[in-house]
Amino acid sequence: MNNLEHQLLLQTLALPTAPFREDHVKAHAAAFLQRHAIPWFEDPVGNIVIGCTDARGYRALLRAPTREPVRLFVAHMDHPGYHGVRWLDEHRLLARWHGGSPVKRLRGADVWLADRQREIGRGRIAKATLAEHGHAMDSLEIILPRGSFDQQRRPAAGRVFGGFLFRSALWTQGPRIYTRAADDLAGVFCILATARHWWRQGAGRSRAPFVGLLTRGEEVGFVGALGHLELGWLAAARRPLCAISLEASRTLPGAVLGKGPVLRQGDRRTVFYNTYLQLLTRVAQKALPGGFQKRVMDGGTCEGTATTAYDIPTIGLSVPLGNYHNEGFEGGPDCRAPRAPAPECIHLDDVAGELRICKALLAPGLPWDQAWTPVREQLRKRLRQYRKYL
Ligand SMILES: [Zn+2]
Repeated sequence: MNNLEHQLLLQTLALPTAPFREDHVKAHAAAFLQRHAIPWFEDPVGNIVIGCTDARGYRALLRAPTREPVRLFVAHMDHPGYHGVRWLDEHRLLARWHGGSPVKRLRGADVWLADRQREIGRGRIAKATLAEHGHAMDSLEIILPRGSFDQQRRPAAGRVFGGFLFRSALWTQGPRIYTRAADDLAGVFCILATARHWWRQGAGRSRAPFVGLLTRGEEVGFVGALGHLELGWLAAARRPLCAISLEASRTLPGAVLGKGPVLRQGDRRTVFYNTYLQLLTRVAQKALPGGFQKRVMDGGTCEGTATTAYDIPTIGLSVPLGNYHNEGFEGGPDCRAPRAPAPECIHLDDVAGELRICKALLAPGLPWDQAWTPVREQLRKRLRQYRKYL
């Protein structure tokens, strides 16, 4: 990872975001893409599509007469968080939680507040109610310090959103990065950095096989991705597609922090497309020998389920994530108790490895359709060797 990429990573991971309140991430992405003259546009449901200047160009890219698959990198811009519902009195905000959350020691936990333009303050949870299933918060009451707003400037409750507050939006400890929201801002970073890499290397040489899709509202069921898939643009593609879900996913045995990115074979719902997974393994062996992990990341579902459900061949890459959805599974700094609010944690090497694989997946002429051929050759050799015993 070069210096510019490292800076971009830290900037991206420090952004405030929540489901359907991705404005800060969008503005950051737009500014970066603009600065590096990378084409992009916003689709009708507010996702960011990188690689084309408009819907027409996107559809033309998908119709291009070539066997080279479009690599559709997908990451989501949101993270579990709350929306303000109404002011209960001058200093108390009733809010609704969207997405996963910690379930212990919620009362007394600090939260940040933002509107679509800026971060506007902090508060403390006075009361939290869990959803019926018991795995996440449903609603919460937030107390703000006196003098947070004078009466006129207090924003309408519906404009306020936020999430858990820790000592800082982001800090590092050696190679570990602690942040409010690594899921999925790490994925957003990877797409931005991969786009920049491609446009520096490949712009003008040929039509990019790259599309980046930065989505909204993933944490409540990949709603932005579904909105995009329902447009029908991808269904009308005339060339092969490969969706690549980029996620920060809960650490599991065999998917541990610091051992490299995970070649994601599937999620909790489904396995992914085996031919392209085979190719992914070959690409990773070359780009990152011995530096990756591989497993079905069944700690949660991801947008790979959505693309698979819409018949798009899908693979995935995950950065192992400590304290998934700010729930203190692994504990560590700023975590008060097991399963209490905690900063998410990722490892710099895992992100750097993921970025390297993303770049390698863009190489022209990879044997997408023949990914099994070398394996078959090996198996045939064995057959030849033992045929005499048959
Ligand atoms: Zn995620």
